[in-house]
Formats: sequence, structure tokens, C-alpha cells
Amino acid sequence: MENTSQFSITKRDGKLEKFSLDKIMNAIIKAFDSVKEPIDLGVLSKILAHLDMYEGVKVEDIQNQVEESLMKEGYYKVAKSFILYRQSHQEDRDLTSKMQFLADYCEASNAATGSKFDANANVEHKNIATLIGELPKSNFIRLNRRLLTDRIKKMYGKELADRYLELLNTHFIYKNDETSLANYCASITMYPWLIGGTASIGGNSTAPTNLKSFCGGFINMVFMVSSMLSGACATPEFLMYMNYFIEMEYGKDYWQHPDKVVDLSTKQRTIDKVITDCFEQVVYSINQPTGARNYQAVFWNISYYDKYYFKSLFDNFYFPDGSQPDWDGLNWLQKRFMKWFNQERLKTMLTFPVETMALLTENDECKDKEYGEFTAQMYSEGHSFFTYMSDNADSLSSCCRLRNEIQDNGFSYTLGAGGVSTGSKSVLTINLNRTIQYAVNNNMDYLKFLGEITDVCHKVQTAYDANLRELKDKGMLPLFDAGYINMSRQYLTIGVNGMVEAAEFLGIKITPNEEYRNFVRGVLGVIEKFNKQYRTKDLMFNCEMIPAENVGVKHAKWDREDGYFVPRECYNSYFYVVEDDSLNIIDKFKLHGAPFIEHLTGGSALHMNLEEHLSKEQYLQLLKVAAHEGCNYFTFNIPNTICNDCGHIDKRYLHECPVCGSKNVDYMTRIIGYLKRVSNFSAARQAEAARRFYYAPKKEIVVK
Ligand SMILES: [Zn+2]
Repeated sequence: MENTSQFSITKRDGKLEKFSLDKIMNAIIKAFDSVKEPIDLGVLSKILAHLDMYEGVKVEDIQNQVEESLMKEGYYKVAKSFILYRQSHQEDRDLTSKMQFLADYCEASNAATGSKFDANANVEHKNIATLIGELPKSNFIRLNRRLLTDRIKKMYGKELADRYLELLNTHFIYKNDETSLANYCASITMYPWLIGGTASIGGNSTAPTNLKSFCGGFINMVFMVSSMLSGACATPEFLMYMNYFIEMEYGKDYWQHPDKVVDLSTKQRTIDKVITDCFEQVVYSINQPTGARNYQAVFWNISYYDKYYFKSLFDNFYFPDGSQPDWDGLNWLQKRFMKWFNQERLKTMLTFPVETMALLTENDECKDKEYGEFTAQMYSEGHSFFTYMSDNADSLSSCCRLRNEIQDNGFSYTLGAGGVSTGSKSVLTINLNRTIQYAVNNNMDYLKFLGEITDVCHKVQTAYDANLRELKDKGMLPLFDAGYINMSRQYLTIGVNGMVEAAEFLGIKITPNEEYRNFVRGVLGVIEKFNKQYRTKDLMFNCEMIPAENVGVKHAKWDREDGYFVPRECYNSYFYVVEDDSLNIIDKFKLHGAPFIEHLTGGSALHMNLEEHLSKEQYLQLLKVAAHEGCNYFTFNIPNTICNDCGHIDKRYLHECPVCGSKNVDYMTRIIGYLKRVSNFSAARQAEAARRFYYAPKKEIVVK
């Protein structure tokens, strides 16, 4: 070892400290003493002679070198003692950091801000149950990385595993939901439950036989299914099955006389009251925090269909008794549920279900006029839900991460239903802003560099898939075995984030112009190319603009720290800039129109932020605009006001409570797919929400 008196070493926290030979010597002497092995200056200098010190050397590296040196000199017992000593210190440090986290979490303003790893967690309160959920997250991340890199090494070699970790650590890519072992989200078919209850997924309830057992059993089934997923659980058949049980109880024409008294108890309930009591039971139960999900509610999605959509999906569906779903009853029930849910949201803040209305279009019009009108009416009554439009009943948006290309993938009725039993197994996100800036700054072709990264992502996802199949083979994934979801109909999702910011860096204007369109198509075209290239009989890939959950905030922060151009605190999850007040409504529909979303096979929803509610006629006009522009997935977002003093909920965006006059109001808005109180978002997300531009468009929508 050379003269090292001028060197600095890097401590574990990254800080520099003056190198001290005494410290190393003391540690070595201690290790010798601990196993009662004699040591003198001669031995000590032999051991020190192997060490290679240099400016900035890390503490861990010095310790590794000491270990090796002890072994080289044949002091195996001493080396073992030294290793054990290091390990116990490591454990102490882990524990100290957990205790620090615990203290910080207790002090954080809310659960999302306190969460270090997964701030999109749908948790309203901060308590011992949510804390228990937070503590093991860092271990899960380590475990998931190890499982994945071991598999990558086996399939593609060590170099690719290293490249994956490098891209993760330098924030070119981000692995979503690394804190959970479960696959991501699923749109399930409930058919296995209808036939055999929950036994096949480890439960003990039998198949539902009447409306009451349907509602109770449904809640249990959704809780069980959700505990085996890290993301959303969509039940597109919910209302269809419920209608089946209502008809079984009150006859096929029940909806023609909903005011008929059918409950002869002292309550004297009508059919309508029985049904809305069922809605209440299911919706309130599912919005409860659940122990199996660390005090999160389950992420529950449902769909409504127009007549044509319904027919294309369920025309060949048969219930176990041989009967077919009845459109007339379902038509009434869908509308009744939506109206009830809209009213119920005036009483209390209900996040779930996230609802999607699926409409078939023809020549820029809703083919089912009745449902086009009804959709516009519900928006005008202040209800908040997604609309999915297609001019070809080829796809069904039944799950937040999903557009299910039925034609493309061979529509399967294996389980008696189509457009269901699918989902996304895993999401791996590319940070487009960093990727493109890095390439440009280093005189590289950015599409080529993006291609290199995308290729790594596809290999990583393929490795993830192999691990998932191994878990399935070992009987760990009963949802697949029992037929709720189908492995070969599940996607591996490539997420993108930072699209708008990358374009801004290149000097492109974020308006519906040719240059921006070409940029988006070029970038997403690269990912689409790899999605097709890596597709096999068993593997399907899709691409999604991920909702700006915590990832958008993290990317912006990391990129800014590393000197990249970062125009805002949270990367957009839209094709437009949320705070831009110069774009009008039509521009935004154009920016989420066909040319832009063409390659987003995993879907991307336009969140049209409005300051005030429009009329039914105006919404009808906007549905036409959406159909014309090919914007297939959208919602209107008008913040609801909640008074913190008297509890009044108002569908309007107000700055003062109309009941008690208090200015202490909170808002319920749709920032990450589902409605939530702004004060429950993480601190960074709240800042984004405050800057968001809400358009006041009344005057300019010309109703034809
Ligand atoms: Zn009030």
C-alpha cells in the first residue's frame, strides 16, 4: 500500500472522510483478538500490503479487500470473524434505518407523503395497519430484483442482468409495483365463481344461488381475488350477473314495475329499494380498507355497455342453467346503478368502482342513440366516469391498463365470456425524457438508443413472465388455475413517462401540429415494433402511457438532480401540458386522437379538466368530437367540493361551502385514474393538482 495520508474515502452515506490507516489496523487487530489469534507488526503489514487504496474508495470496498487479504494470508478463522462482525453491523444499520422510517412515517402529513416506495397506494388514513404495510416494502424490492436478475442471467446472461440494473439505477427505466410479489391487474371472468363458489381459489363459500348470496359472495370473492393482485380487479360482468339473480327472484319483467312492494317485513321494501340496498351493500363494503391489502381498498372497476357492445361480447354467453343474459333487464339495471352511484356520492366520498361506459360508434355518432344520450346526460348530472369508444367492437376497456384487441388476438369464449379473463402481468416503464435527452446530448440517434433500451425491457419482461409461470406451475396462482384469468390473454406492459417533456426539450410545440405528431408516432412506433417482435403464442406486449402516479414525480426529481431539462415537478401522463391554458377542448381531443394513440395498445385516458359542468347537449357534442378525432378513452374531470367543516359534498368546483359558508374546503378529483380527496395525495401530487388548469368552456361549444 502506498502512502495514503492524502486520500479521502467515501462513507456509506456518500460523504467523503479523510483516510485513516489506524481505523483499518484497529479493525484487523480486533478481528484477530476475537478468535484469540496472535498478531504482530509483521503479520499486520503483510495484510495491509495487499490493500489497494485510491481517492474516493468506498468503505465497503476497503472491507472487501481486508477480507480477501486475510484469506490470502491464510487467516480463515479471522476472516470469518471479520465477515460476521460486518454482517452484524449491517443488520444494526438496517434496523436503524427502519426505525428512522417509522419515526418519519408517523410525522408525515398523510399516508401518501409518508410512503417511501409506493405513493399511489390508495390509502386514505395513516395508522398502524398502513405502517405494517410500509415496513417490508424495501425488502420486497430487493427480493423482486434478485428474482428477476437471476432469471435474466439464466435466460440472457450476466451482461444483460447488469445492464437492467444499470438502467434502473440510472433512472432510464422504472419497474412498477416492485413492492409486491403479485402480478399486476386483471379483468376477471366470474364464471368459475358462479359455478363453484370460491373453493377453487382457497375460499369456503359455495356458488351463489340467490340475490342475497350473490351480493355477499361477490364482496368476498373480489376481496380474495384482489389479495392476489397488486393492481386493479375489474369485474365487467358484475351487473349482468346481478341482473340474472334479480330476474330469478322477481321475474324477467321486474324492471317494468320497480315500485312493487316485494318485502313483506315491516320495512315494506319495493323492488327498487331491494336493489339499491344491494348496491349499497356491495359498494360500501368494497370501498372499505382491507387487511389483506395493507388497509387499502381494493381497486375495483366495472363496465357498462351499449346494446351493440353488449351483443358483441355476450351473445354467446350462457348461464349454468342454459339461459342467456337479458338485455332489457341489464339496460335498466346499468342506468339504475349509475344514477344511484351519482347520488350516493353526494352523501360520502366513494372511490370505487371506477366505471367505464363502452360505446360503439359509426360515422362519428354513437350507434346506440339511447346510450349516447344517456352518457351525455350522466355527465351533465355531474357523474364522473370513463367513456370508451370504438368504431369496431374489437376492444373493451375493462381494466385501467388495458385495451383488449379482440380481433387481433382471437376472441375466445372458452369461459363463456369474452373481453374478460385478461389483464396486465407486469409494467416496466421507460423514462422518455431522460432517454431522449441522454441520446441527443451524446450525439446519438435517439430512436436507436430508445430501441436499445426497449429491447432490454422486452427481455426483462420475458424473464418476469418465466418467473410468473414457475409460480403458477407450483400452484401459487390459483386465479389462473381456476380460470378467473387466462395466462395467454395477459399482457406484459411497456409503460412510457415523460413524453411531453422530451418533446419540449427538443423544442417541439405541444399542440396538435405535424411535428409533434411525428415525434409521438416515431417514439411509440419503436416500442410497437418491439412489442410485435417479441410476441409469441404465449406472450403479448402492449404499451401504455402510465398514469402519473408517484413515478412522474420521481422521474422529474431524479432527472433534475442529474442536470436534465425538467420543466415541471411531475411528468405529464397526457399528450398535452396540464397547466397549459392556451389549448381548447378540441385541441385536447385532437392530442388524444387516433394519430397520437395509434401505438398505445395499452390505452391512455384523456382527462378533460373542466371548471364547471356542461349541459347534456354540450356533452353530446363532445362525444361527437371524440368519435371524430378517434379519441377512444376519456373522462371529464370537474373537481367536487367537500366542506371540511360541515361535511357537505357538492358536484361543483367551489371555493366556499354553499351550506355553511366555510372556506375550509377540500376537493375530490381524478388525478390518478380514480377519484380521491386532494389532501390525501402525496405532497408533490398536491402541488401538481394546484397548478392544473381547469377549462371554463361554456360559451365556445356550439351545439348544432
Ligand atoms: Zn360547510
